[in-house]
Amino acid sequence: MQIVCLDLEGVLVPEIWIEFAERTGIPELKRTTRDEPDYDKLMTYRLNILREKKLGLPDIQKVIAEMGPMQGARAFLDQLREDYQVIILSDTFYEFAHPLMRQLGWPTLFCHSLEADADGMLVNYHLRMPNQKQEAVKRFKELNFTIVAAGDSYNDTAMLGEAHGGILFHPPENVIREFPQFPVVRDYDALRAEIDKAFAKAA
Ligand SMILES: [Mg+2]
Repeated sequence: MQIVCLDLEGVLVPEIWIEFAERTGIPELKRTTRDEPDYDKLMTYRLNILREKKLGLPDIQKVIAEMGPMQGARAFLDQLREDYQVIILSDTFYEFAHPLMRQLGWPTLFCHSLEADADGMLVNYHLRMPNQKQEAVKRFKELNFTIVAAGDSYNDTAMLGEAHGGILFHPPENVIREFPQFPVVRDYDALRAEIDKAFAKAA
């Protein structure tokens, strides 16, 4: 009874806002929580820019569809889903992830949602709950599942710590330094080996 919880951006697909900013040539959208730690301010700023540029949800989804998942992500995920239950825990939004989920074969995704008006312009965002990655792992443990989690960044470390085994996938150097308790892998073969190892250790 095992579940693998995976982060999405930076693990299976590119960082959506950064890649979107590059593809549309709107550098203002490259701002992240590192530049603006107040998430509500950051999201309001992003939605205002999209509205100014007259980019509605269909336009946004078209750009995101063209990004595609990372190379090898689909094969890695398909193989993983043959052997384990897999749930993706992400801080992105369903409306953004949708075109990428199609390319990944519709895996289960828990994330947040956006609100569009009749013209497709984004007017608001809705976080399902705070700390949802860690909370989800906590609840799965209460259901008697053994959990191994993998992610690439700060917003994953609570989830990795909560799981029976936590793995960093292709993380930035500062995250490696601050969280030396988690093993680090840099490609899908190594990630799969580390997942199997973590479950064997938790058994
Ligand atoms: Mg990530």
